[in-house]
Amino acid sequence: MKLAIPRERQDGETRVAASPETVKKLVALGLDVTVESGAGALANFSDAAFQEAGAKIASSEAEALKDADIVFKVRSPLDEEIGLFKKGALLAAILNPYGDHARIRKYADAGIDAFAMEFMPRITRAQSMDVLSSQSNLAGYKAVINAAAAFTRAMPMMMTAAGTIAPARTFIMGVGVAGLQAIATAKRLGCIVSATDVRSTTKEQVESLGGTFVMVESEESGDAAGGYAKEMSEDYKRRQAELVAEHIKKQDIVITTALIPGRPAPVLVTEDMVKTMKPGSIIVDLAAERGGNCPLTEAGKTVQKHGVTIIGELNVAGQLSVDSSALYAKNLLNFITPLIDKETKSLNINWEDEIITGTCLTKDGQVVHPSLREGGN
Ligand code: NAD
Repeated sequence: MKLAIPRERQDGETRVAASPETVKKLVALGLDVTVESGAGALANFSDAAFQEAGAKIASSEAEALKDADIVFKVRSPLDEEIGLFKKGALLAAILNPYGDHARIRKYADAGIDAFAMEFMPRITRAQSMDVLSSQSNLAGYKAVINAAAAFTRAMPMMMTAAGTIAPARTFIMGVGVAGLQAIATAKRLGCIVSATDVRSTTKEQVESLGGTFVMVESEESGDAAGGYAKEMSEDYKRRQAELVAEHIKKQDIVITTALIPGRPAPVLVTEDMVKTMKPGSIIVDLAAERGGNCPLTEAGKTVQKHGVTIIGELNVAGQLSVDSSALYAKNLLNFITPLIDKETKSLNINWEDEIITGTCLTKDGQVVHPSLREGGN
């Protein structure tokens, strides 16, 4: 059975869906692995390293995808790439199903069985396949590093003969995987760290990392299924905004990471709040891809507004292309391994398994995911 790893073609994508380490393991599973030449170039994985791990190198994408039964990608294939897939091929990638509805239909029409890795259910068995976790963790770290690079002051307290430098006050909004890593990174850099979330379970996590928890006192719970958050009531949002407005004035760096599955990112930092921040403060908006937690954020750009630098870079995990590729590749390896029959070395999928029903978008020419079918989300 042939497994192909093409070079990514979406603008700004630096990652690749396999590493030499995972190729070795895929080959050991009995798969014929083909990597398109240059696929790993931006993640420092050379063709030679893939070849040494047991892959064939294809000189074009058409050659890589020809007759491939399984295709690993980071992002959705472009329209012109879809035509290169074999009918019945299994595609595993980050497919942005809520944002890219039309393309999902195209997979069905092309007879591609497409699996969206970001829909991986949050169950223990699937933890090692969870691409949102592996990528958000790196993004949370890099967000703080990017803030430090743009900040015109030092992060830690420094007591010198020439005077004392105050530590930077860093506020993390949204304490999921990215937020927790941002807290840990900001602490390691010597910041005074505070954080907020709508899920009350995060209080203990923030405090265990040495941060102060800032939260609206309310009976309302922000917990939805799978560890995700739900949209809060108007009353809660108003009270949260008041609390944040007071707190944000005193902050030097704000890292926002708040997301609600299937919905635009909630607005947490309004323009009025930005106006109250000290000149030279930094906002890193990790929710930029989903509309941003600050309305002044411009996706893919760094802008100055009211004396504040607002960083809305996209694909922040991709800035650490070696680590993000290696972890993403591992997620895909862990996803495919149980689907390969050890005897026949071919795909043997249990279509009832919740990992499959949770991630499978299209099958046999139909859009099958419940949240994408008519009447779904
Ligand atoms: P996410 O990326 O969906 O959202 C980021 C954070 O923003 C969440 O903590 C969310 O509660 C918060 N948020 C949403 N709306 C907000 C608002 N209005 N104000 C403040 N904060 C808001 O979350 P995530 O990183 O995917 O993690 C969610 C949870 O799932 C975490 O507790 C994580 O540990 C857990 N998790 C579990 C598994 C597993 O069991 N396999 C895997 C990964 C993550």
